[in-house]
Amino acid sequence: MSRFLVKPELPYCKGCGHHLIVRNTVKALEALGASPLDVVLVTDIGCHGIVDGNFATHTVHGLHGRSVALAAGIAMGLPPEKKVIVYIGDGGATIGLQHILEAARMNADLTVVVHNNMLYGMTGGQPSGLTPTGFRTVLTPQGYSLPHHNLPRLVLDAGAPFAARVVGLGDFSDVLRQALAVQGFALVEVLEICVSYGVKMNPDLRLKELAQEAGYEPGIWESPARPAFRPSRRETASLLDMPAVPQKYSSPLEGRMALILAGSAGEGVQQAAELLAQAAIAAGLHVTKKGSYPVTVGVGFSTAEMVLSRDPIFYHGVPQPDAVVVTSADGLANQRERIRRMTGGVLWLDASLPVPETSAEVRVADFRGRAGARNAALYALLTVLRETGVVPPEAFLETVRESPIGRQVDLSEW
Ligand code: SF4
Repeated sequence: MSRFLVKPELPYCKGCGHHLIVRNTVKALEALGASPLDVVLVTDIGCHGIVDGNFATHTVHGLHGRSVALAAGIAMGLPPEKKVIVYIGDGGATIGLQHILEAARMNADLTVVVHNNMLYGMTGGQPSGLTPTGFRTVLTPQGYSLPHHNLPRLVLDAGAPFAARVVGLGDFSDVLRQALAVQGFALVEVLEICVSYGVKMNPDLRLKELAQEAGYEPGIWESPARPAFRPSRRETASLLDMPAVPQKYSSPLEGRMALILAGSAGEGVQQAAELLAQAAIAAGLHVTKKGSYPVTVGVGFSTAEMVLSRDPIFYHGVPQPDAVVVTSADGLANQRERIRRMTGGVLWLDASLPVPETSAEVRVADFRGRAGARNAALYALLTVLRETGVVPPEAFLETVRESPIGRQVDLSEW
């Protein structure tokens, strides 16, 4: 058995052309002298994708039609000697055509192997964008009426340095080997007929003749080589070079504290939570923060769920918050049910709001009156910190002062 496979029995129907694609891929990788752990196989929904468990390589299984987008991201983070292979069906290639074209345009360093068996096999035999004219499917028993996409042509036009099409019979490993040797984007379209749906609906068709009649010309097409796309240091600098927050303060928190800040869109809720997160890190804590708001971000509620913890955080859900801070009617409406279910903890409520049903301890303060609607969330968090000390208030004030908002708020009044 090849060292690229952990299980030699492949999970496909007897006679399915996918068997040959796997065998030829393995042969091509062996010819290149690759090691299984230098290979990432990315698949998605479709019969081709259930082969993950057979491979001894790294494998990633994604959503239908999205494997190229996933693989492009993976390839950008890997050194050039690694091999990223995408297995995708003709249905997935139809769904994710834009991903394929963009990866070709960027020259992402990966090899896409399109299993073109002329229809969506796993989902019952429907036609795809690669189904040839006249081909019969369950939805087009009289024959498909539209012309198929010409994938190699499309990716070459988009900038791919290598594209090929093979009739998926016998040994086509050398074409796959050439594709895998490309530093950049390569696509190999392998023609097959799904024995379960394609052959059943088109019993008189033979693969080679079908390919010829459909204008599926086999071949290898190359464009002048160009560097594979890898994000430059400059492009990733904003992420990689984010300065570490120095620990200048100390938090007395032991364990973890879950806090919800709920207010109105446009009233700085998310910004206030992010500033608290920075201050908590400066005080030696781990923090997570998740924002929720309507799709139209400028109206309605705005809620931030935060976990502050002495230890690394592996679960950022908040089934029972320790503190809920509500600064507006929108925030109260959004959190009313969670507040009702609180069995402990503290509800901090703006003085303008009615006290909701809850078993939590309720503390009322005039956040909006004291700081105005725009800064009520900031002021509410400062109030909570002053009363609990979970993060030193001076750490929060310093973080606010050094942020762009610090120039707009007169903190001396707070
Ligand atoms: S349904 Fe078709 S594509 Fe899927 S494994 Fe069977 S023959 Fe292959």
